[in-house]
Amino acid sequence: MPDASTANLAINAERLWSNIMTTAAFGGTLKGGVRRLTLSEEDRRVRDWLVARAQASGYEVGIDRIGNIYIQRPGRDPGRAAVAMGSHLDTQPTGGKFDGILGVLAGLEVLETLDEAGIATEAPLCLVDWTNEEGARFAPGELGSEVYVGHVALETALACRDAEGVTVGEALSAIGYAGTEVPGARRFAAMVELHIEQGPLLEAENLTIGVVTAAKGQQWYNGMVSGRESHAGTTPMTLRRDALMAFAELALAAERIASAHAPDGVGTIGMAEVSPGSRNTVPGEVRFSLEFRHPDPDHFGRMRAEMRAEAERIAAARDVTVTLDPIWSMEPLSFSPDVAAAIAQAAAARGLPYREMTSGAGHDACAVASAVPTAMIFVPCKDGISHNEAESATLKDCAAGANVLLHSVLALAGVSHHD
Ligand SMILES: [Zn+2]
Repeated sequence: MPDASTANLAINAERLWSNIMTTAAFGGTLKGGVRRLTLSEEDRRVRDWLVARAQASGYEVGIDRIGNIYIQRPGRDPGRAAVAMGSHLDTQPTGGKFDGILGVLAGLEVLETLDEAGIATEAPLCLVDWTNEEGARFAPGELGSEVYVGHVALETALACRDAEGVTVGEALSAIGYAGTEVPGARRFAAMVELHIEQGPLLEAENLTIGVVTAAKGQQWYNGMVSGRESHAGTTPMTLRRDALMAFAELALAAERIASAHAPDGVGTIGMAEVSPGSRNTVPGEVRFSLEFRHPDPDHFGRMRAEMRAEAERIAAARDVTVTLDPIWSMEPLSFSPDVAAAIAQAAAARGLPYREMTSGAGHDACAVASAVPTAMIFVPCKDGISHNEAESATLKDCAAGANVLLHSVLALAGVSHHD
């Protein structure tokens, strides 16, 4: 049951909005977006802003060796593991003001709201800024949360290099965020991540809150088609081993496979490079990226198997070789039913229209979920657009999401009855 003293508690929507606009200046672009690559000077400035704000309120601030920032507000029972809230402050090269940032700033808003109302929780609350969720400067993404749960070894993560050859370890030292805490040492009882939906469903259905109960599995490949370079004028069509034409068939096969598993199934080729890239030479090689996503393990497995079979068929038919190198994958995952129930209850109690949904994107919550009971809250974003400078969400929806975050973590952490 919600505690009578907290039932009507609400975050300060204007302050949350003002913090979103203030931090958007750290890496703000002319088109109104944000360019804040992880561990850059802009990232240092937004991190310093967050830490200063936390210290001003007297919270404990911890930095771990992969640069994750932990901001902890004590509970009545210091023996209990903290309930975590968190997301990321880094952005894509042409990112927006909300992706990741909303989840961190709403967490700060929750802590400050509880201070002002003089409310103590039984378990501590901990706000986390996870390092390098975006994976834009250093691959892979979700690096801080993957290291936290032990999926990626700390030494491996610190050795990742950006395009200029700078390592994560060097970049952390350069901005003063190479902390000493051991990633994973701080235990959490639960985690709730608030995030914009980055898709069109909530807006289309006129809903305010998505209770995210599952996330799509993802399979990433680096692919290559090898044929034979030859003269564009003298090589008869029947004697060509054209890598680009074989790739074109492969691309359409990927689309066909994803469409056969729609609406949940999606498949994308985001990059392709044709070699040698001369108008007078039949292409000998195409290197490309390919990814498939699906929330159901059975469908997800079938998509991968069907793609392999198509790759073999096309290679044989066109006398080329096709390789699909699986470079990263995440199995479909279910979030914690208990944490999702706390989110749904918080939305219902505020009279906010909500639905259960599946995340098509990867998030820090997906990594953390393997070690900590976790679920997510989605709020609508305009036209479902994200990873774009035009990314937009309303004050009202951001505030609604932050209030659901507040009441979810109050339920999970327990409100003190000792007063
Ligand atoms: Zn994000």
